Amino acid sequence: MTQYDDANIFARILRGEIPSHSVYEDAEAIAFMDVMPQGPGHLLVVPKAASRNLLDADPAVLSRLMPVVQKLARAAKLAFAADGVTVMQFNEPASGQTVFHLHVHIIPRFDGEPLHPHTGTMEKPEILAENAERVRAALGGK
Ligand code: 5GP
Repeated sequence: MTQYDDANIFARILRGEIPSHSVYEDAEAIAFMDVMPQGPGHLLVVPKAASRNLLDADPAVLSRLMPVVQKLARAAKLAFAADGVTVMQFNEPASGQTVFHLHVHIIPRFDGEPLHPHTGTMEKPEILAENAERVRAALGGK
């Protein structure tokens, strides 16, 4: 497998070199809004430990990541009064991975509403900021 490259966009967000609409941080992971959401409230959970994806990740990192994913999935469902939550994760280009630092997608879902395609269109910053605030409020409200 190709080596991890720390110039990827999520490594840069983790180093604070570029901004994100952050909703959560602990010793192990951060979570922020996806800039090209496939639905309102689309979040990404990113472990701080470097790995390209699930395939080269330390199992200990994965075991600490899943409780964070659960916490954010619950908060996203609550924040957007969603009917369900899609959690997805891609490994290597053949699977659809485009950013090569392990990350987990969390997307609030609504009955009868299909997942939006990944259009490559950036969401308005004010919408992302408002959605991030809703998730932070939901996290605080637990
Ligand atoms: P992948 O297909 O690799 O699982 O998904 C990468 C995700 O990262 C995509 O959903 C894309 O919209 C998102 N993304 C790409 N660049 C940025 C960025 O600079 N900031 C944020 N917050 N999300 C990004």
